[in-house]
Amino acid sequence: MTVLLLRGRELKPPLRPVPQPDLRPSPPFQQAKQIPSIGRPPRNAALRFPVNPETKAFYRRFYPGASVTEWNDWHWQLQHRIRSLDDLVRIFRLSEDEREAVAQHTGPLPVGITPYYASLMSRDDPSEPLRRTHIMTGAEGIRMPGESDDPLDEDHDTAAPGIVHRYPDRVLFLTTGTCATYCRYCTRARAVGNPGGEYQFSPKQWEKALAYLEAHTEVRDVLLSGGDPLSLSDERLDWLLGRLRAMKHIEFLRIGTKVPMVLPQRITKALVKVLKKYHPLFMSLHITHPREFTDESREALARLADAGIPLGSQTVLMKGINDDIAVIKPLMHLLLKNRVKPYYLYTVDPVRGSGHFRTNVEKGLEIIEGLRGYTTGYATPIFAVDAPGGGGKIQIAPDCVVGRDGDDLLLRNFEGGVYRYPDAGGTLGAGK
Ligand code: SF4
Repeated sequence: MTVLLLRGRELKPPLRPVPQPDLRPSPPFQQAKQIPSIGRPPRNAALRFPVNPETKAFYRRFYPGASVTEWNDWHWQLQHRIRSLDDLVRIFRLSEDEREAVAQHTGPLPVGITPYYASLMSRDDPSEPLRRTHIMTGAEGIRMPGESDDPLDEDHDTAAPGIVHRYPDRVLFLTTGTCATYCRYCTRARAVGNPGGEYQFSPKQWEKALAYLEAHTEVRDVLLSGGDPLSLSDERLDWLLGRLRAMKHIEFLRIGTKVPMVLPQRITKALVKVLKKYHPLFMSLHITHPREFTDESREALARLADAGIPLGSQTVLMKGINDDIAVIKPLMHLLLKNRVKPYYLYTVDPVRGSGHFRTNVEKGLEIIEGLRGYTTGYATPIFAVDAPGGGGKIQIAPDCVVGRDGDDLLLRNFEGGVYRYPDAGGTLGAGK
């Protein structure tokens, strides 16, 4: 057997100029002629949304001037994101490590946390999982072997602005460089929060991407990502989804988003009405920890599920955050209870500065073995590694084939018992 080992193209020269230091990301939306203007909701739009008791206490303390209507307005949440050291120290008791890391940070992937998501974090404990994944530490400055700025070599597979065309019949469409919150382990750290150089996500670029898709009739599946596509206005999403849906060869649309967990107020009835027009439309939801499930996120998920949007989760397995069956199992159950199918469990991609989050691959297998057979089959995601160098997703599963005895295949069940399966004429397991 030939084993082909591909590593991240670490020696490749950078494809973009070094971004200018600027903690303030560019505005979430950019204007263009053909694209509808950004609309705020009508004054009388229903902004009713649940507010869980802890969050209510938080906003009364830290945002006393905000009304419930403002708090529940996703525009207000985006405009009041925590984006600087001053913003952070107003709310959190920062460790020296956090304080220094934030003060020294330049370039993309700045601090960015919605007030709502901040309300779920510990204000005193830097090791609390949601806080650790969103407030930078000095460990981000350490580059581990095998890490790179573009670990999946997406730049290499970029066929048109924002279009990563790696697989035969499907593409990744990077629509925006803005997210509601910035995760410290982001695979696209190079391109979010403060994109510059080649990372432009304007509607002008969309036109080039759409022209590519119009010409490539083999593409039947488009995954909209970024950044977070739900940081775009309803009007722009409507326009973009409409253009894609008008292409007869595109059968299947997907949106990758973390918004329902970090900015659930964005899932307005108006947004859902837009999304419903473009079925089949699936959503891949980036969900990390049981603490993300609140009255607010449950409401957001219910609105999406009620709109007939199939929901699947993507969870990144992270050291000290969720690499424990005692965390993952309840998380998978919460997903199912909220009509989200646990879809993928990933290792952290080897993006520069993410080593402190990375577990070894055995940990993922251990988690899967702790789920299989011990809980509902629907609660077991696919465990996968996204291969550096553009190899794509590679699924890893516990090996249940023990061997072969004549026409019997020998299989191991979840409790370690070995069972025979009649498999006349087969060869699987013969070499073991
Ligand atoms: S929401 Fe997704 S794209 Fe945005 S910072 Fe987090 S991981 Fe990156």
